Amino acid sequence: MPAVPLSEAVGGPLVRPAPASEHFDAIVIGGGPAGSTCAYHLAARGRAVLLLERECHPRFRVGESVMPYASGLLDAMGLLDEVEDQFVVKRSVETSDSVGGYFRTYFAKLAEGQKKFGFNVERSRFDALLCSHAEGAGATVVEGAEVSGLVFDGARLAGVVYERDGERHEARARFVADASGRAGLVARHFKLRRMNCRIKKVALFQYFEDVVKGVNAADEGDLVIATHEAGWIWCIPVDQNTRSVGAVMAPEELAGADRRQVFDQHLSRAPRIAAALEGATPWFDDLKVESDFCYHSEHLVGPGWFLVGDAGCFVDPVFSGGVFLGMAAACKAAEVMGDILDGRAEDEAIAHFEDFCKTGYDQYFRLVYVFYEQCNGNVECMFRQLFEGRFKPLLQILAGDCWGDENNPIWSELRSDPRWDTFERPFNRVYGCPVYPRPPLACADVMARERP
Ligand SMILES: Cc1cc2nc3c(=O)[nH]c(=O)nc-3n(C[C@H](O)[C@H](O)[C@H](O)COP(=O)(O)OP(=O)(O)OC[C@H]3O[C@@H](n4cnc5c(N)ncnc54)[C@H](O)[C@@H]3O)c2cc1C
Repeated sequence: MPAVPLSEAVGGPLVRPAPASEHFDAIVIGGGPAGSTCAYHLAARGRAVLLLERECHPRFRVGESVMPYASGLLDAMGLLDEVEDQFVVKRSVETSDSVGGYFRTYFAKLAEGQKKFGFNVERSRFDALLCSHAEGAGATVVEGAEVSGLVFDGARLAGVVYERDGERHEARARFVADASGRAGLVARHFKLRRMNCRIKKVALFQYFEDVVKGVNAADEGDLVIATHEAGWIWCIPVDQNTRSVGAVMAPEELAGADRRQVFDQHLSRAPRIAAALEGATPWFDDLKVESDFCYHSEHLVGPGWFLVGDAGCFVDPVFSGGVFLGMAAACKAAEVMGDILDGRAEDEAIAHFEDFCKTGYDQYFRLVYVFYEQCNGNVECMFRQLFEGRFKPLLQILAGDCWGDENNPIWSELRSDPRWDTFERPFNRVYGCPVYPRPPLACADVMARERP
């Protein structure tokens, strides 16, 4: 049977033969943004890559708001124009409160030379696009292929066992990149995952369609975040007529309660979002729920394996970092694997990968701690009290600058607080933004504000 390009198959079940060769330079587990980015970069370097995805694209995923720095990564993959054509461009973020006050942060004020926009994406289509792009670059993509076992040569991870159509296959490679998201196959195998007891949240979410034109007071394309005394709510325009709306709260809020009632109560505390949804129709029959999504792995790399994206670490969705951080780690993993395959010393290269990822994750975690622990979940407190007068550094961070600027005064301050150390063991901080090599800071106050 001839291979069916994924791009042609989107919209229907994918039927594809198992790959003829079962030995590769790298195997990537999972075809989300992290796995597809990793597979794309390795394949673009001429490496033989097998990407195994358990489901068939397009498949649902939450996490639709994508940081502006991801635009630079998409550009480097030759995908920016296509993403701009197909998805909602996000030029600003509106933050509001429970009494209708709001302010807006514009990405137009990002440093010179940077892309001044991110995206809001329907993940089923976005992830399918990235995965088909990896295939277009030469990766072998097999969907409906569930990795069910790991293959070792001594202590080195040397391949995987996967099931497809009831058949068992074994594939081997010099490296396995685990991008299986929260499933985290490799981290769980080595018992590396540490759940975060301090940031324990649950999210209830729902899509709304047939949004009534003109009722949305936010700027077109705005991600809207509303904070209130018992949590926060996102409202993301995934296309002109559809909004993804989620309420994030402490798990106790939900214990024994009716989910719909709790969701509606939370929504009523976000008047600007509630008003924007008037007349719109809930899409799913039931609310969707995600919980226990804050964790990290103490190690992110080992003999023959790399953890990329949520498979290694996920913090919290409040600053929309998941997709960008996952793609950035995936770029670094592909670079390091490619370099080792080209002859770079493995020990030094994998240490660099781990230190790089920990640098970004640790800083990002600190920002989330500030939000929940120092500002009591009030984003305006962060913007107006804590970081007053440092809006430019804050804006760069909110756009995705987790690696670019060691001297960003906000990062410097947050790093100095040992309460917020994420990793148990010390590590060397490795900077070097995968998107913009030059540190971006320079300007004065740049955050434009609006008040009703
Ligand atoms: C409530 C909530 C809201 C969020 N909102 C945002 C947001 O607004 N913006 C943002 O950037 N991020 C957000 N995130 C985070 C975002 O969803 C993730 O960070 C992102 O999806 C990570 O991408 P990934 O490629 O690492 O993993 P995933 O997207 O989860 O992809 C992993 C893939 O691996 C596959 N897989 C799993 N197990 C196997 C197996 N055994 N064999 C083969 N394949 C397998 C899965 O089917 C899946 O396709 C949110 C998360 C939560 C929980």
